[in-house]
Amino acid sequence: MITEAKQVTKNFNSSEFACKHCGNIYISEALIKNLQTLGDHLHFSKAKVISGYRCKNHPVELQNKNTGQHTKGLAADIEYYDKNGKLVPAKIVICLAYDLNLFKGLANVENASSEGEVHLDIRESGSYRGDETIDYKTHWTNPYSYYGVTKEDVEKYTKATSKQLEVEKDITKDQLKVLVNALKIRIEPTTESMVYKDAIKGAYYNYTETVENENYTWYKISDNKWIANNGSYLEIIPKAQSTNEEEIQKLKGIIKQKDKEIKDYQNEIKDLDAQIKELTSYKFKYTCEKDGKYLKTLKKGETLLIK
Ligand SMILES: [Zn+2]
Ligand SMILES: [Zn+2]
Repeated sequence: MITEAKQVTKNFNSSEFACKHCGNIYISEALIKNLQTLGDHLHFSKAKVISGYRCKNHPVELQNKNTGQHTKGLAADIEYYDKNGKLVPAKIVICLAYDLNLFKGLANVENASSEGEVHLDIRESGSYRGDETIDYKTHWTNPYSYYGVTKEDVEKYTKATSKQLEVEKDITKDQLKVLVNALKIRIEPTTESMVYKDAIKGAYYNYTETVENENYTWYKISDNKWIANNGSYLEIIPKAQSTNEEEIQKLKGIIKQKDKEIKDYQNEIKDLDAQIKELTSYKFKYTCEKDGKYLKTLKKGETLLIK
């Protein structure tokens, strides 16, 4: 549990979840991380925490017979705003949160401050799928049918236009290349799941996992990002295999040998340089072949060097 003010994720500081009554901070890091993940899927510009931690003396909790997830630091009532700064409707947030399976407790909130406020919690046991605007007993099983939301409604918020998943071709990684237009990147390996965005024809993606489902092989290209292949949608390029590995080792051996040859040549050049230096350092050089006395008549300006 986080008990002091600090930046926990890109968009959330723990101080935003402090008890509104006493200012104490007691909030789950996992809860905040899940709120960030949910927001990232919405491409949110900001989120407003209406209520995070509530101590037992918080007016709302004093009215409650049973203290709830807020007193355990496991819940937040929150609003999300889309990339244009517009409030995301609660029913959209709930359907997406339900699909991502990040929260055990999901509900729209009684006396909500807006059409966008939702209650999200990561309770340790059981689950809660509520509509507190009616009462605390109403439970739904499928938010899409309950709230009258379609996948397309949610996709308006989740579909991305960014290129962040596309990568450079790299034979040292498991990759795939998209061969067709309008192939979907989905958040789960099923055609039932939501579209994150369209894959780009001709682009490369790294993959880390495959799953067989609905007569497709699904490739996981990132967390909650999957692409289907029917055999002709994608070119699969597994990272360089062991046969290539042998060839690479052979070439590396050759490079090592050539490096050694370069060093030998460099030493040889050094020796020749030293010889040149020696030969040019004297204007006159005389090597004595035999012991004895020798005479030399020098002219003005001449030097005699004797080793
Ligand atoms: Zn308090
Ligand atoms: Zn709540």
